[in-house]
Amino acid sequence: MLLERPGAPLREATVPRPVPGPGQVLLDVLACGVCRTDLHVADGELPEPKLPLVLGHEIVGRVAELGAGASRFQVGERVGVPWLGWTCGVCTYCRSGRENLCDRARFTGWQLDGGYAQQTVADERYCLPLPSAYGDIAAAPLLCAGLIGWRALVAAGSGKRLGLYGFGAAAHLIAQVARHQGRRVFAFTRPGDTAAQSFARELGAEWAGPSDAPPPEPLDAAILFAPAGALVPVALRAVAKGGTVVCAGIHMSPIPSFPYDILWGERTVRSVANLTRRDGEEFFEIVREGAIRTETEPLPLGRANEALDRLRRGAVRGAFVLTPD
Ligand SMILES: [Zn+2]
Ligand SMILES: [Zn+2]
Repeated sequence: MLLERPGAPLREATVPRPVPGPGQVLLDVLACGVCRTDLHVADGELPEPKLPLVLGHEIVGRVAELGAGASRFQVGERVGVPWLGWTCGVCTYCRSGRENLCDRARFTGWQLDGGYAQQTVADERYCLPLPSAYGDIAAAPLLCAGLIGWRALVAAGSGKRLGLYGFGAAAHLIAQVARHQGRRVFAFTRPGDTAAQSFARELGAEWAGPSDAPPPEPLDAAILFAPAGALVPVALRAVAKGGTVVCAGIHMSPIPSFPYDILWGERTVRSVANLTRRDGEEFFEIVREGAIRTETEPLPLGRANEALDRLRRGAVRGAFVLTPD
């Protein structure tokens, strides 16, 4: 499925089979998750995508062929391809364990073709071995919703009372990880979305309510998965002194001005950008034994536009995963 220009629906197309370059692997795509970032790329909210582009950065694939010099995986092995597709390895960020901030980083499904396809190629150094406890469809959302959610959870600190704003693909996974760590989870959804609120309670949230309501008690940290800047002051009001508000999305609508006293008391607002390979290794170690359940709605690849439309409307429980027809 090709994005030919931002704002246009994806078009089903037959393209030449990708050829793995040096250090790359050719993958048969087994499943590819649909992430909100795909919507931001498709809608033109992220600048200068490669065009035409194959979206998709939660790729579960089977190695079909090795490019020159590629030796990390064997043909037939199952691997995951995340958002971080390539980094320079030499800049200050890369050399200080912050490759997620590399100035020259290239991202899967933005500057590099991704997984809304039957086959794709990936740099083997950025592929992640996947825990065998998860099937192909179940593993797909772990690769971004899970991974970036994990990075956001770490950035939120170790406070016990955790608020999650926007209960979609990332929050449904991170709520379970947080519960696993013994934290208390408070879930905030779009006002009126009682389905998402009961979904959150099923996954261990002790309280779930609309994002315009205050939590029943102050929070130690809040993670914003919803791309709504108006939630930043709302979340700041919900956290106690010393609390952190983490903005986990790559794009957010403008943040309205707010009075200094809701930031006062050593509250912190920060963003989380992309992921490092180390985040992937840590996260897959945590969820290795099948510690969390991924809620997915599989759809055939040809229905990618429908998945994007429904994601835009919030009409999904958990995550959409596309499977090649
Ligand atoms: Zn770099
Ligand atoms: Zn993503």
